[in-house]
Amino acid sequence: MKFGELTLDHARELDKKDELSAFRDKFVVADHNMVYLDGNSLGRLPRDTAVRIRQVVEKEWGEKLIRGWNEGWIDASVRIREKLSRIIGATPDEVIITDATSVNLFKLAFAALKYKASKKNIVSDELNFPSDLYILQGVIDALGNNHKLMLAQSEDGIGMRTDRITELIDDDTALVALTHTCFKSSFVYDMTNITRATHDHNALVLWDLSHSVGAIPVHLHECGADLAVGCTYKYLNGGPGSPAFIFVRKDLQQKLMQPIWGWLGSDDPFSFKLDYEPARNITRYQVGTPPVISMLSIEPGLDLHLEAGIDRLRKKSIMQTEYLIWLFDQWLAPLGFELGSPREAENRGSHISIQHPEAFRICRALIEAEPPDLQVIPDFRTPDNMRLGVAPIYTSYKDLFMAMGRIREVVEKRIYKKYSKERSSVT
Ligand SMILES: *Cc1c(COP(=O)(O)O)cnc(C)c1O
Repeated sequence: MKFGELTLDHARELDKKDELSAFRDKFVVADHNMVYLDGNSLGRLPRDTAVRIRQVVEKEWGEKLIRGWNEGWIDASVRIREKLSRIIGATPDEVIITDATSVNLFKLAFAALKYKASKKNIVSDELNFPSDLYILQGVIDALGNNHKLMLAQSEDGIGMRTDRITELIDDDTALVALTHTCFKSSFVYDMTNITRATHDHNALVLWDLSHSVGAIPVHLHECGADLAVGCTYKYLNGGPGSPAFIFVRKDLQQKLMQPIWGWLGSDDPFSFKLDYEPARNITRYQVGTPPVISMLSIEPGLDLHLEAGIDRLRKKSIMQTEYLIWLFDQWLAPLGFELGSPREAENRGSHISIQHPEAFRICRALIEAEPPDLQVIPDFRTPDNMRLGVAPIYTSYKDLFMAMGRIREVVEKRIYKKYSKERSSVT
């Protein structure tokens, strides 16, 4: 894509033409000397969330106490999952908001392997988020080490050809577990064809939507997907550690048994029966009491996404990642950077990765800058990746222009050399 002139005025023009630009004001932007490009790891705080949380703490918890459950909290969880189901192409009775993504992945992978008990292979790939692979390894261990985890290999570390995955799927495949948008490169998998290939061999597919939900339209039904998980604190702006979601296609809900049998997954929690009977719907994938405060904190961000519309957000995200790549080619490629993301927009999610041998120190220089220098917050992914996350609901073209200019400056003037290579715990 071509973008005209390489000037700040031009970036401002693009913002003026942006039909979603008004949504930025719905978020807290506390520091105007900082460009935030990590909304794919932790989304910004919606203004309404701050109000909502204050209300739930002071008025609902503080004054209603236990009555809160019947006076809104239960209804809210049903309402929120209905909203979430709309942006992933599911029906409300197929979605539940609960636990962390990793925990949900464990529950569903375990359930799938038990259900396909005669089959012994799990197919995933080497680009998957490590936690997802650890979880699969842990499931194999928990089930007695009789399964084999097969990982498709990427040719370039960025993308994954669909046939590299489908050639590993055969009649001994129980489960195919993949992340829809790759956390490092932003590559987007072909959900339709991989799902079809999985079903051709009577296996189940489990999609991790963490890096897709809120940024890319997902059509679980249309693709025929069986199972999915994903998180709500990235593009959906649910807040740090806000609960994740589980999707189980309706016809599978009663066939699968998840491994953690808690009272809130049972048929009738308040009967206090001594023997577990699983609920006969999506509720069986719940375990214990939901985290009400952080569950409620998901809703304002979801509302904003529904109002903006996922298709319009996707369109803007594509324009903005194209814009980033356009700036990259002119400013950063000449300085020794490599693009670590697909160039074709349809194969790319909402962040781009750029690679440089000094990526870690460049990130530090960007993040630790003091005024009057512009502060930029991307994130670093070992060994040499910087991720620049576009959250189309609040990222502006001006943000992108300023951030890329600052990255260029940090490298051109070797500002990063003042920073050490010492790592902190969250990068
Ligand atoms: C962010 C992310 C997770 C996060 O898992 P948690 O259990 O919330 O820590 C899992 N999988 C993928 C692919 C992610 O991008």
